Amino acid sequence: LPLCRAMPKLELHAHLNGSVRPATLLYDRLSNFGEFVNWFGGFCRGGVFGFVGDVWMVGLLRCRELARGRGEDCTELEDILKKERRSLPETFKLFGLIRILTTDHHVITRITREVIEDFAAENTIYVELRTSPKNNPAVGMTKRSYMEAVKAGMDLAAPSSPIHVRLLPSIDRRETTEAAMDTVRLACELRKEGWDIAGIDLSGDPAVGEWATFAPALRFAREQGFPLALHCGEVRNSDEIRSMLAMGPERLGHVCCLDDYEWEVLLASDIPVEVCLTSNLATQSVPSIEKHHLAGLHKANHPIAICTDDTGIFATSLSRELALAASCLAVKPEEVVALARSAIDFAFAEIPMKQALRQIFDTRAQTLV
Ligand code: 5GP
Repeated sequence: LPLCRAMPKLELHAHLNGSVRPATLLYDRLSNFGEFVNWFGGFCRGGVFGFVGDVWMVGLLRCRELARGRGEDCTELEDILKKERRSLPETFKLFGLIRILTTDHHVITRITREVIEDFAAENTIYVELRTSPKNNPAVGMTKRSYMEAVKAGMDLAAPSSPIHVRLLPSIDRRETTEAAMDTVRLACELRKEGWDIAGIDLSGDPAVGEWATFAPALRFAREQGFPLALHCGEVRNSDEIRSMLAMGPERLGHVCCLDDYEWEVLLASDIPVEVCLTSNLATQSVPSIEKHHLAGLHKANHPIAICTDDTGIFATSLSRELALAASCLAVKPEEVVALARSAIDFAFAEIPMKQALRQIFDTRAQTLV
């Protein structure tokens, strides 16, 4: 872990709202001194693990209020939050809750700044941050104003964080074709205005939505020259997995539930895979680390990038994910550094940017092993 912390890193698969600091969910509760004393007492009793639990629980108090205000029942969510491992459907219930808490311009700006600072603090030199632009009429939010709030967070983080941040607007699987097209159109407009839009992501609850609904927007994105990163095979859905493989996106995320034929197509394709170990384990998309397909991908010499997915939701970091991958593959320190460095090859970046990244990486890594 110390080597993984010290070495330069690239993050290619991180969702903005999934990377929220748990403590940030507390921010207005801590302004109440009585609650702070309560929380701090619990923190002292529980140590670090107690802290994580307490943060979620105090966050939950706030969620409860909000949920109650909306006439929602929070009992089920409380149960989900108490679990160390959550199924994929449970994780998406949690995302729904976080969305209630965080979809407000100033909160989005704050989360963006903090997420970038957190990545920079562990020596991440490049991050492609993905997020789905959201309409929220209740707070006067449009997809564009949402992205502007994200940009404001990036600008706030920039002076203190030596890290190159690029955006990957996400199409959420719950969206209609028209809403998905809106996201791609917005990405085109922002790029024209000089924003650094790296590509387009497809994510969201894999139990929701049909390939036929978002494929037109993905094809449109491609026509506009955007590389595609698709969440693929988090659940068994052969038709969709095969359609994705046939489309030949620039990267695929997860690929946990492929059958033998799909696996063969993937390996023959050379499409880089974003591997998110803790996320796959936590959501039970794979039964155990021993049975994770990372080893198979590595053995086949398939291109892989080790990523975090959602540092906040899964209480992880890029350093931890690399350390976990290293122990899973039983590789030597110099191979871990090479694994981290290979992410440069799969970044959605032009050749000059990749050359610059290799130079930065090599300068910072030369004293490590
Ligand atoms: P946001 O786009 O709101 O910034 O980030 C959170 C969202 O990313 C979630 O609501 C969900 O739609 C998507 N997301 C985060 N983690 C995962 C994942 O592991 N799988 C999929 N399919 N979507 C995810």
